[in-house]
Amino acid sequence: MRKLLVVGAGQAGLQIALGLQSHGYEVTLLSNRTADEIRAGRVMSTQCMFHTALQHERDLQLNFWESQAPDVEGLGLSVAGPDSGRAVDWLGRLDGIAQSVDQRVKMAGWMEIFAQRGGRLVIHGAAVSDLDYFARTYDLVLVSAGKGELVSMFERDASRSPYNAPQRTLSVAYVHGLGPRPEHPGLDAVRCNLVPGVGELFVMPAYTHTGRADILFWEGIPGGPVDAFKGIRDPSEHLSLTLELMEKYTPWEYARATKVELTDAGATLSGRYTPTVRKPVGRLPGGGAVLGVADVVVANDPVTGQGSNSAAKCAAAYLSAILEHGDKPFDEAWMQSAFDRYWETARPATEWTNAMLAPPPEHVLNIIGAAGSLPRVADRFANGFDDPADFDHFFYDPDKAAAYLESAAAEA
Ligand SMILES: Cc1cc2nc3c(=O)[nH]c(=O)nc-3n(C[C@H](O)[C@H](O)[C@H](O)COP(=O)(O)OP(=O)(O)OC[C@H]3O[C@@H](n4cnc5c(N)ncnc54)[C@H](O)[C@@H]3O)c2cc1C
Repeated sequence: MRKLLVVGAGQAGLQIALGLQSHGYEVTLLSNRTADEIRAGRVMSTQCMFHTALQHERDLQLNFWESQAPDVEGLGLSVAGPDSGRAVDWLGRLDGIAQSVDQRVKMAGWMEIFAQRGGRLVIHGAAVSDLDYFARTYDLVLVSAGKGELVSMFERDASRSPYNAPQRTLSVAYVHGLGPRPEHPGLDAVRCNLVPGVGELFVMPAYTHTGRADILFWEGIPGGPVDAFKGIRDPSEHLSLTLELMEKYTPWEYARATKVELTDAGATLSGRYTPTVRKPVGRLPGGGAVLGVADVVVANDPVTGQGSNSAAKCAAAYLSAILEHGDKPFDEAWMQSAFDRYWETARPATEWTNAMLAPPPEHVLNIIGAAGSLPRVADRFANGFDDPADFDHFFYDPDKAAAYLESAAAEA
């Protein structure tokens, strides 16, 4: 029987480990934290996942929280305008629902299920020197340890990484008590508020330990007014600053947030990182090779909510590649081909995310503006979060954008 090691128990690592386990593989999973530590720890993400990624979980029957989590039916976009108003405000309908299940709930639950089903779970923070040994004893080592230190084994791919510094600061607060959006009180949506020159405020429904919650997530332009969370350790101070910034820059969102309180002591998170694509094969000092998974090899800024979606797609692509490979050796050529398969979905997500981090060119502003009066444009934009490859057809090129808007207007 083939022996596989998965290092890191996040979205991708657990999905691969549980998937391989269901196909009878002998899998060892290394996690630097126990399920209880994850559950009682700090929030890690806003983890909104769209239809395709959720379907990968359903295919493996891992969608344990689907009936409890709020169904996100739409994606709304607002652009702050003069006098505290909105220059743009629309809602696009998603073809399939999206959901956000707190990773503390999901990863802790999945880890326990992996162990209950007979999987070998080892609590250990792996170092590069450990991997040297593991690469000799396992048929394949998959490194799914997120953006931590182990990425140092994987060379940065400069041709696919346009940025060499963080493009946003990230500040998250999970809350109870957010009021409904007056424009569509009966419909849950992710709301993306763009504040030119300042950043973005995302507001999204989620499921956490204490039931339904909403997430307030500021992405701030470094050095700007939202880049103000560094050094704040006290969760209530974090929430106060979040609300203060909402009152100033997105008063329409603040109006429904006046009664919110944090869901728990670990409900806040802040940080920043540089979006980076890496080469998929990690080289070990002893000569061995390991395969990088999800954020290890493609870490995009969360401004487009693609990371967990991409992690689920990466896990699905690698799982198929492993199953199809049968008993043949997992050599470097195979590792590269497994990554190439993943890159088919990661490439559009990466290009779109990197584009959304830059100030929008005129033709993009035209698309965003037109969506306010053309629901089909709003719907298409919203569904691009599930399948960013669709943006290739109308988003990047001014001529294609103009032709698309013309045809959408003619059909309206
Ligand atoms: C603020 C924020 C908001 C986000 N919002 C969204 C969103 O709305 N939608 C979306 O799709 N994505 C979002 N993302 C991105 C998403 O959370 C990540 O891309 C996704 O979790 C990556 O999954 P992963 O399995 O690669 O890594 P992770 O989820 O980071 O999992 C890696 C695991 O490995 C463990 N680990 C690390 N080092 C070691 C080691 N040496 N040994 C053993 N274990 C180790 C870690 O503790 C962790 O459990 C967001 C991210 C952030 C920071």
